[in-house]
Amino acid sequence: MPLIINGLGVSRGIAQGRVHLLKRSHSNVTRREVPKEQIPREVERIREGIEAAREKLGRIRDMAREDVRGFIEAHLLMLDDAMLVDMSTAYMQEHPCNAEWALEQTREKLVREFLSMDDPYLRTRCNDVSHVIRTILECMDSDQEEEPEAKKNLTGSIIVADDLTPADTVSLRHQNIAAFVTQYGSSMSHTAVLARSLGIPAVVGTHNAADWLREGEDLLIDGRGGTLLCATGEWLIDHYRDYQRRENEHQEALETICDQPSITRDNHTIELLCNLDLVESIEHIHEVNADGIGLYRTEFFYLDRAGTKADTEEQYHVYRDLVHRLQGKPLTIRTLDLGADKEFDPDYQGVVSPNPALGLRAIRRSLQDKPTFLAQLAAILRASAHGPVQLMLPMLTTASELRDAQALIRRCMDSLKREGHEYDADIKIGGMIEVPAAALNARFFAHELDFLSIGTNDLIQYTLAIDRVDNQVNYLYDPLHPAVLRLIHFTIKAGREAGAPVAMCGEMASNPSLTRLLLGLGLREFSVSPTVLLEIKQIIRLSSMERLKERCKKILMCSDSGEVSDMVARLH
Ligand code: PEP
Ligand code: MG
Repeated sequence: MPLIINGLGVSRGIAQGRVHLLKRSHSNVTRREVPKEQIPREVERIREGIEAAREKLGRIRDMAREDVRGFIEAHLLMLDDAMLVDMSTAYMQEHPCNAEWALEQTREKLVREFLSMDDPYLRTRCNDVSHVIRTILECMDSDQEEEPEAKKNLTGSIIVADDLTPADTVSLRHQNIAAFVTQYGSSMSHTAVLARSLGIPAVVGTHNAADWLREGEDLLIDGRGGTLLCATGEWLIDHYRDYQRRENEHQEALETICDQPSITRDNHTIELLCNLDLVESIEHIHEVNADGIGLYRTEFFYLDRAGTKADTEEQYHVYRDLVHRLQGKPLTIRTLDLGADKEFDPDYQGVVSPNPALGLRAIRRSLQDKPTFLAQLAAILRASAHGPVQLMLPMLTTASELRDAQALIRRCMDSLKREGHEYDADIKIGGMIEVPAAALNARFFAHELDFLSIGTNDLIQYTLAIDRVDNQVNYLYDPLHPAVLRLIHFTIKAGREAGAPVAMCGEMASNPSLTRLLLGLGLREFSVSPTVLLEIKQIIRLSSMERLKERCKKILMCSDSGEVSDMVARLH
């Protein structure tokens, strides 16, 4: 029986492969009968899981901020408590079963005990017990017969999961997967952004796809339309192959403008830069002849290191290598934007934020974790001695954040000078405008900084009060909301008046159907995904900026995004 499932296509491309159901949730613990004589081996497996959890938490502790290390130390201490092994062993002796099930029973019992305590503080400790036992469960091979995910050969598979974090996606790319499908997720999540930059077709928000699909069966996905096809007739598969062939032909035709200038009909030169998420993608930048890198998301380098901190030396080598590979084109290095969904291990942020998107992320986090920030600043500054590097601060909201960051940059320059390291003393320092407060205060930031870059992914999330990773409110994520357009226009105008160039590196810049609108709002620097750069260049070459500016005046007066959408569709 053919099966067609619809979701949200977030990374275009057609992929065909075998389904691999990714079980990463500890809630999947199932009970398995185990003969009594095998129980000592199960006890041993718990001990091995505890050892692996100790190593994992140790790594996370080394990465954590000073003020949250204490929480992780407390979790490490819990691992030393013999009670975890003793209670689980007693359970297995009474009800012969696998180690995971026994540990889960221990967790539930301990949580019940903590919750029944009178002391409110002790009651909250049940979360710690749960975290610790779940970490052990994640560190155990879930079934003795089952290989851990990282060791499986997943080449050509389509990964089907409840959800994937950016850290999962970064690690899965090494396994040459054909595509991925998630039940939750939204188009602006960092996981979706990463899939696009890696060129991996992806469909998210499929609700219950995993309930319908079976391990190993053939699946075809259309990452643009958001469709999954299983056991359908050859004619439908042929239709998609044909569609893919036409897409490839279109892409090849675009390659003819690769060396042509990015200039409008009325002679305005538009900078076309690329976003870079993973160092290895740097080659794509040359393939499309981009003007440089407008955003290097350095946090993915961190997520790729299984949670270990990178020191200055290591980061410096990565950045210097990128500078060399860019052969004189500018490299805009954004300081760490860790936090929210970009967490190595979301369960271990130390203090669990009630609302991570509004919590300690990006520049806020860097200013609280000065040793990590200074180590990165030193690496960026040292790399600037080798070619054009720009330093960019994410998610600025207040003037004091900028002043604190500027003071740390100066402090770092002084130390480098004392140590005899070279750096570009005139390095350009810019900031991202991705919070409405910063956009409305763009005049200040434009005066204080050398350049601005509009991060529309966050600007939209914060302007419209919708969490960009929450697929329940995904339908409200609207780049054409008049409030968003006015904030963008205001920022571009503030930059122009202060003589500070304004770029856009959010996904709006990578959407060819919005290119004319952005030109009409006065944008002259686009930092986009390499996969769409040529398509955008073609539109720029066919557009007249002054005419678009005139037409966009009317768009800026609209109060309904439906009306905006109709007018944008008619722009030419
Ligand atoms: C943005 O918010 O638009 C942006 C480019 O930053 P990120 O997607 O990494 O949050
Ligand atoms: Mg952002």
